[in-house]
Amino acid sequence: MGLLRPRDGTLRRGYGATVTSRVVQAASRIWPQQTRTVANWQRYARAAVLKGDLNVGWCPICEGRTVFVWTDPWLRDHYRCVRCHSIPRWRALIHVIENRFPAWRSGSIHEVAPSGPASRKLAEAADYSSSHFFPGVPLGSTHDGFRCEDLQQLTLPDGSLDLFVSQDVMEHIPRPERAFAEIARVLRPGGAHVFTVPIYGRPETLVRVEPDETGNVRLLMEADYHGNPVSDEGSLVIREWGADIVNFVREHSGLETEVIELHDRFRGLDGEFLQVLVSRKP
Ligand SMILES: [Zn+2]
Repeated sequence: MGLLRPRDGTLRRGYGATVTSRVVQAASRIWPQQTRTVANWQRYARAAVLKGDLNVGWCPICEGRTVFVWTDPWLRDHYRCVRCHSIPRWRALIHVIENRFPAWRSGSIHEVAPSGPASRKLAEAADYSSSHFFPGVPLGSTHDGFRCEDLQQLTLPDGSLDLFVSQDVMEHIPRPERAFAEIARVLRPGGAHVFTVPIYGRPETLVRVEPDETGNVRLLMEADYHGNPVSDEGSLVIREWGADIVNFVREHSGLETEVIELHDRFRGLDGEFLQVLVSRKP
């Protein structure tokens, strides 16, 4: 764990029993999915505090001074704000939107597959809508409180949005070329697709699954799944994107993409696969 210690903003061992107990109380309110009981989580959090696996900082999502605690070396899922319980990629997304689009609250935003505190924050925008894809439900209709949309054939009007947001979605789309083209279509000139997606340290994208002529998919290698907020089955990984995603987006949508790498422990920004991509429509 030593290598993972932050270089700054660290509360050291012996900082004070009062602070430690306050942090344990706050951390106890975090309840990650993999921690089945409160008592179990309290044990993790107490161990994290005693080991010094935390740093003080400022959270981009709950917008206040906080303590970030990690309970596992895999920071991507285990480095949480004790106030809003956010994980790094949610904080990274909001940090980039605040930084690049400071007037986002007055714009019109659509988010696909929303989940977690970052989506709740984006819903503060004057004109925010969100959608999930529900198989068998008519596209554009409302189901379980969400619009039903297929990214590959959106029912949203041309040029209607300032920001299109997706969080860890683009690796699951069978025909991503159609999705990127559709996102470009619904953006206004000057608008942007802001998204997180795992980018592997390879120049070229690995295609794990190919769509076939009948609309089904064909596995090119063993199936891999990520968690899905609206399905217990999880989401099949179609592509492990490489650095060539920037060219792929340009070729199929005409949008120019900036890949933003973030490492800032003070804002709780650290961990694996922490890039945020901003693709702007000219
Ligand atoms: Zn927070």
